Amino acid sequence: MARVYIVGAGPGDMELLTLKAKRCVEEADVIVYDRLVNSRILSLAKEGCELIYLGKGNTEGGVIQDEINRTLVEKALEGKVVTRLKGGDPFVFGRGGEEILELVKNNIKFEEVPGITSSISVPAYAGIPVTHRGVSKSFHVFTGHTEKNGKWHNFDAIAKLEGTLIFLMGVKNLGRIAGDLLDNGKRADTPVALIEKGSTSKQRIVTGTLENICEVAAENKVVPPAIIIIGDVVNQRRDFKWFEDLELQGRKIMVTRDRRQAGAMSEMIDRRGGEAVELPLIEIEDRMKDYNYEEIGEFTGLLFNSANGVRSFFNNIDDIRRLGSVKIGAVGVKTLEALKEYRIGVDFVPEKYLVDELVAGSVEFTQEGDRVLLVTSDISPVDIEKWNTKHGRSYSKVTAYCTRKVVHPREEVVSKLKGVDYVTFLSSSTVDAYMESLGGDLAGTEGVKYASIGPVTSEAMRKYGITVDIEAKRYTAEGVVEAIKGEGYAI
Ligand code: SAH
Repeated sequence: MARVYIVGAGPGDMELLTLKAKRCVEEADVIVYDRLVNSRILSLAKEGCELIYLGKGNTEGGVIQDEINRTLVEKALEGKVVTRLKGGDPFVFGRGGEEILELVKNNIKFEEVPGITSSISVPAYAGIPVTHRGVSKSFHVFTGHTEKNGKWHNFDAIAKLEGTLIFLMGVKNLGRIAGDLLDNGKRADTPVALIEKGSTSKQRIVTGTLENICEVAAENKVVPPAIIIIGDVVNQRRDFKWFEDLELQGRKIMVTRDRRQAGAMSEMIDRRGGEAVELPLIEIEDRMKDYNYEEIGEFTGLLFNSANGVRSFFNNIDDIRRLGSVKIGAVGVKTLEALKEYRIGVDFVPEKYLVDELVAGSVEFTQEGDRVLLVTSDISPVDIEKWNTKHGRSYSKVTAYCTRKVVHPREEVVSKLKGVDYVTFLSSSTVDAYMESLGGDLAGTEGVKYASIGPVTSEAMRKYGITVDIEAKRYTAEGVVEAIKGEGYAI
């Protein structure tokens, strides 16, 4: 049933999305979003969802707003579920009301989903409470943007307020705001903070007083989106700052894993104060859907060398009893973790992370002539004949999954790389897909650093002339994040 959700997406940090907003994104057939929305929120959309970017900065009205209104109405009348995603809260200088008027006019059902507004959350991420006992009893939020007719606030009244003053969209008019407050009697030493791109990896904070804040802003080249917060609560920052002290704060990290696996790694990054951007460069295709599991009864040994293999195998099995008393061998930390998820124990684990060792290990648990099945990927090195001769067993392989490169248009990659500090590669195939997407040309990627999961991936990178800035010590996604965090592991 057609409906429009007018949804606030929060100030930037993905985790400040509400549960309801998340549902609206997941349900949407069409998402209309603006500049201040974290792009990773869009990756929650269902497959086939139409993503429409409309908006160059929230301060622009007119033409773009008409187009937004028109798009919402048009798509809703086509019977689609439309989610209009806006930075912060839709009703705090978000023009959500104008969109709703248009929907009402066209008799379209809608819901409004409040978001965490930047006016309180961005100060919070800078360690500034908008009210604080004994310091500020109120807070007041203003637009710092003048209307077309030049009408301005009543600064005589504003300067008399004792509470915290917060200006959105005020960078351009900072001089005027500070000047008018001073002219109307506000203390010259009133503390002021400017917070740029709050709650993101690019958050910057500068502080000063009403008297010198313009110089400070110019020196530091503060640009929108930024919040101006004025009042004694700014001093609280000395004790209350926390976000900028997180291990990965200030680092925007590109995750190139398969779409389904990227989320866990991105969360790892976000939890440590970094900001993840996702560009899936591989796709894991499940190949066990048509497998005849009846065959399992013929094997006495079952070997796994990857977590993906384990998942494909157990997600598709029709009856777990088919396993009977088969002996199970596995190699790799992640493979063992995946087996544990399915409550499957293992009979043997070779010391070295090598398929040959895994196969050799099966000898102790099976009889001469037994059949042993290796559950693996299409590219795993397999030499059935050699193994059969050497170990006197009858080995078979089933391709449980395939890894496909996902090649993106060059412009998309270059645009996603904007502001990215590190690109992470967790396999050689992601490196191949990256270079193929870029048309073999690293131009436009300057300033980006590269982190690799281990020696094999590093080798693939060097072949293309990509500098390996960091290599993980532990060959897992966690290992890569840890290496970036410490940079101590840099090579
Ligand atoms: N509806 C939004 C505000 C839209 S007006 C909300 O509730 O937050 C756009 C202004 O919001 C920007 O000019 C800036 O002043 C402020 N803003 C939004 N996100 C911000 C962020 N992450 N950091 C700093 N300021 C931000």
